[in-house]
Amino acid sequence: MKKAIILGGGVTGCVSARELGKKGYQVTLIEKNPYLGGGCHTFFMGGHPYTEGPRFLTITDEKIFDYIDEIVPLRRFALYEDTYIEQDQAFYSYPMHWDDIQVMPDFAKIKSELDNRPENVRADNFEDGWINAVGPTLYGKYVKNYTEKMWQVSSNKELDGYEWSVKGFTIQHGERNVTDLGTDKHAHPFEKEGFNRFFDACVADADVRLNTEVKHVDLEQKKIYLGDEEITGDIMISTLPLEELMENTYGSLRYIGRDFYPIVLPIEHLFQDGHHFLYYPNGEKHTRIVEYKNLTMHEAPDTLIVVEVPSMNGKLYPCEMMTGERKKADLYKKALPDNVFSLGRLGSYQYTGIAQCIEQVWDLVKEL
Ligand SMILES: Cc1cc2nc3c(=O)[nH]c(=O)nc-3n(C[C@H](O)[C@H](O)[C@H](O)COP(=O)(O)OP(=O)(O)OC[C@H]3O[C@@H](n4cnc5c(N)ncnc54)[C@H](O)[C@@H]3O)c2cc1C
Repeated sequence: MKKAIILGGGVTGCVSARELGKKGYQVTLIEKNPYLGGGCHTFFMGGHPYTEGPRFLTITDEKIFDYIDEIVPLRRFALYEDTYIEQDQAFYSYPMHWDDIQVMPDFAKIKSELDNRPENVRADNFEDGWINAVGPTLYGKYVKNYTEKMWQVSSNKELDGYEWSVKGFTIQHGERNVTDLGTDKHAHPFEKEGFNRFFDACVADADVRLNTEVKHVDLEQKKIYLGDEEITGDIMISTLPLEELMENTYGSLRYIGRDFYPIVLPIEHLFQDGHHFLYYPNGEKHTRIVEYKNLTMHEAPDTLIVVEVPSMNGKLYPCEMMTGERKKADLYKKALPDNVFSLGRLGSYQYTGIAQCIEQVWDLVKEL
């Protein structure tokens, strides 16, 4: 029987365990936390389920929906996001909505900028791309400060992978929910524990070592050292940060972390009409508030929100849209020995969501 070692028990590691198990591999999965799920693990406060960041499924392919739904049934929902624009002392929809823009105090200026947009909206950095797309005033109100604090940069020109950044739409007309843009569809488990049972089910046939941090890896031999124990595989799938797996040979890679502040509030709902996120693109330190109750449908007389503050703590957001970082990540990927695969958000150094992580595993396992 072929053996596989999987490093990390987030969505990528757990789905890898499931798929390799189906292919007949004997799987050992190593996870440093006392729980599975990585960033998608559901925690509780005051009885309220929450995750560190929203972590719902954005459906890119119905097969991904079915794959999770057969283990933890999923509820589809329409996503509503808002933004607070301090200079207007107003709350508007996000993405930008034409009906909001028309009632802004500086509408005449915005309209003139929109009318005079260049024909070709392609640009070689995030800032120029957005200004070309919506003009400097809307960019300044909705995007500039938010993105600078989110990515901890002094100018958004440092983000020079523009095509990744603007996700195909800028100003929305008609319906205000994100789902109806036709690009995204959203789903969340019915269960209070969110995706937790999905992760347990994925690793049911694997040898799972929780509370175990991988420190020493021999990539050529596909061997890990855990204290006195050595485990060798025929293949290894790592979901650890790429540069950590390869002992920083080509230098550090940049990531942004985030501090999360869960807060229970003595009201049934904070956001109106079941809205989910509220963005803060002004001078505040935080970028976003998420009202989890409106995602999880948890029933309680009080509510739970999580305030998110970007920081350099932790490796949550790979800065793949900085060309220099992406090139360094490519060096690491090229240097991986045969039968060692680095997948997932940190392993591939890509701004992936849950669906893309699953697709990466499917693509790999198909080739094995
Ligand atoms: C704030 C935020 C919000 C998000 N919201 C969404 C969303 O709404 N929808 C969506 O689709 N995606 C979302 N994402 C992205 C999504 O959560 C990730 O794509 C996905 O969780 C990545 O899974 P992963 O298994 O690759 O990595 P991780 O979840 O990071 O798992 C890696 C695992 O490896 C373990 N590990 C690390 N080092 C070691 C070591 N040395 N030894 C042993 N174990 C180790 C970690 O503990 C962790 O469990 C969000 C991301 C963030 C940061």
